[in-house]
Amino acid sequence: PFEPLASDFYGFETLLNGQEQDALMRIRDYMEGTVRPVINDYWERAEFPHELIGSFLETDVARFPFAETRPFENSAVFRGLVSMEMARVDASMATFVGVQEGLAMGSISVCGSQEQRDTWLPKMASGEVIGAFGLTEPLSGSDSARGLRTTATRDGDSWVLNGSKRWIGNATFSDITIIWAKDSADDQVKGFLVETSSPGYTATKIDRKIALRPVQNADIVLDNVVVPERMRLANARSFRDTAKVLRLTRAAVAWSSVGVAVGAYEAAVAYAKEREQFGRKIAEHQLVQDLLAKCLGNITASMAMCVRVSQMLDEGTQRDEHSALAKGFCTSRMRETVAWAREAMGGNGIVLDYEAARFFADAEALYSYEGTREMNSLIVGRAITGKAAFV
Ligand code: FAD
Repeated sequence: PFEPLASDFYGFETLLNGQEQDALMRIRDYMEGTVRPVINDYWERAEFPHELIGSFLETDVARFPFAETRPFENSAVFRGLVSMEMARVDASMATFVGVQEGLAMGSISVCGSQEQRDTWLPKMASGEVIGAFGLTEPLSGSDSARGLRTTATRDGDSWVLNGSKRWIGNATFSDITIIWAKDSADDQVKGFLVETSSPGYTATKIDRKIALRPVQNADIVLDNVVVPERMRLANARSFRDTAKVLRLTRAAVAWSSVGVAVGAYEAAVAYAKEREQFGRKIAEHQLVQDLLAKCLGNITASMAMCVRVSQMLDEGTQRDEHSALAKGFCTSRMRETVAWAREAMGGNGIVLDYEAARFFADAEALYSYEGTREMNSLIVGRAITGKAAFV
């Protein structure tokens, strides 16, 4: 039976139909039963739980958006709640899916030919093929739209790629990485499905992160990597096409950020009901209740925003600035919320075993990836004023 979350205060989950609620419960059970008991240890060791990939993807988390793979018709609100649900237990697992299904499969779905979709999406949905998405570079983060230095040069039936990428999630173990590179003939950004076994391709793990430690981010070097023309994303003609992918994934990150806030908030509520100070549970102190109420206000406002942005996707009215506003706003509210939740737990709020600490640290990565708050504000600012202020 469907059990709504107490932290879904306005009952947004009741917008789902029965089939969607059942699927959400399956994912909730998996995350609670299989991921929660082990994830702090993986986090501490900065290891990705590879042995969980198979069972995790059996919950269908990477299948829902695509006509080629979905088990049933479903709404964008449902898919958003799935992102939230994963992140509510662990933002690293949510990020693994965000890269595999959102960025990598999403690029193939949005920018690939039907043949490319048929070839890759089913294998990636099952985990037979793991994907990564390489846009950011050591010298080009926020200005990826124009600043990419990686080049693709046509050579007969192939392309030759040269350059480097930084921060690329899943890339230490991906089978294919989508590399975004500038065509040296027309200077436009194009996308390439690069097999990671290709000569000249190397990926090196970025160590010593303090957020999303299980997520394996890599520095990639491309040294004369040859990619056949059939592996070029057929409908990626300029950065405008890349941005179509980011519009979808930014909305998903907004949803995940609500999940991170909920995860920390739920830990704080449980703790406040147990911990006693001044002869009573800290949950009975007015100022602690105020902290929890502020958390719930942030969570509820952010969920409402995410629900509407997802409905706009299904209605066909969602634009870049809509998902940019949600990403910037919800990740900012998340950052406040995890800090308040941690605060409500005193010293134990900084210890992994009490859960809030992991959400507190992971929030920093969600805040910056998929466009920093500033970049998303500038996308919104352009829509408000009609003036681009990026440079
Ligand atoms: P910079 O662009 O150097 O920005 C630094 C600061 O300057 C920021 O505060 C920024 O907002 C500010 N700034 C820059 N320009 C302006 C301006 N014009 N106006 C005002 N402020 C400005 N990338 C991928 O391609 N694939 C991935 O899988 C991936 N995964 C990631 C996972 C993690 C954990 C992290 C941390 C990053 C990941 N990224 C990935 C990269 C991510 O998208 C970038 O880190 C992000 O876009 C910011 O770029 P940057 O780090 O180079 O920061």
